[in-house]
Amino acid sequence: MPLYEYHCESCEHDFEKRRAIQEADAPLQCPTCESKEVTRKLSLFFALTKSDAGTQSLSDGGGCGCGGACACGSHSMN
Ligand SMILES: [Zn+2]
Repeated sequence: MPLYEYHCESCEHDFEKRRAIQEADAPLQCPTCESKEVTRKLSLFFALTKSDAGTQSLSDGGGCGCGGACACGSHSMN
């Protein structure tokens, strides 16, 4: 399961959380101030998880579930 980095817009707290790929952009509360103003930061998780998740849909260019609209870097490799 990939490790994502999140940033709380309310208290400027950065934190990490392991979530399923399909839950990466699901609503999340800040563990410090419980705000829901949390944004996901881009991380290198693709390089770390390819070995155990590569047999899924990552290789078809849509692995992050965004349809290519994000800047996760997984689409430019095609
Ligand atoms: Zn916060």
